[in-house]
Amino acid sequence: MTKAKKEEALALLEEMYPEAKAELVFSNPYEMMVATILSAQCTDRQVNKVTPAVFARYPDACAMAEAREEDLYPMVKSCGFKTKAANIIAACRMIRDEYSGQVPDTMEDLTRLPGVGRKTANVVLYNAFGIPAFAVDTHVFRVSNRIGLCRADTVEETERQMTRLIPKEKWGNAHHWLIWHGRRVCKAQRPDCEACGLRGLCDEYRKKR
Ligand code: SF4
Repeated sequence: MTKAKKEEALALLEEMYPEAKAELVFSNPYEMMVATILSAQCTDRQVNKVTPAVFARYPDACAMAEAREEDLYPMVKSCGFKTKAANIIAACRMIRDEYSGQVPDTMEDLTRLPGVGRKTANVVLYNAFGIPAFAVDTHVFRVSNRIGLCRADTVEETERQMTRLIPKEKWGNAHHWLIWHGRRVCKAQRPDCEACGLRGLCDEYRKKR
C-alpha cells in the first residue's frame, strides 16, 4: 500500500470513529494502570464491572500496596489469571516504595512495574498522562496488518512502523480508531468486510477477492 493510500485509510478511520476513546472507566493514573492490567485477555466491560468495588476498597497505590492477594483476587477473579492480582499489589508496592506513591510517567519507569509491559505502559502514558503513545494490542496488531498500514510479524515492529506513519499528535487517537474498528467491524474470526468503509483500500479485502 502506498503512503498516500495509508494516509487515506487513516483519514477514513478518523471519520468513522471521531468519538473513539478508552472504554475502561478510570479517574486517575493509578486506576488506569490497575484497569489496564486487568484488561489483558478480558473485555473492558468485565473490567468496568469489578473496578468500582476495587477502587472503593483500595483508593490509591499506597492502599493497594497493603492489600492481601487473598482479599484482592476474589474481587478480580472474573477478569482471569491469579497473577493479575499479585502483579497489581507488587506494582503498587514498588510505586509506594520507589515513586512516592505516584504512578510514574515514563516508559522506562512504568515497564519496571510487575505486570506492566510496553502495551500497558503506552495505554497509561496516553490515557492517564496525555503523553503521545501508540499502544499495540491484539486489535491494533490485527487491523493494522490486515488493512496494510504496516507489514509486521510482531507488536514491537507494528509499533515502530505505525509511529513512523502516523503524526505523533494522533498516535493515541489512532490507537483507539483501530481498536474500535477491530471490535465492531474487523473482528478476529469474522471480519464484516461488506459493511466496512475501508474495503476499497484494504489489502486483506483485495487478497480475498
Ligand atoms: S475490509 Fe475486511 S479485512 Fe479489511 S479492514 Fe475492513 S473488515 Fe477488516
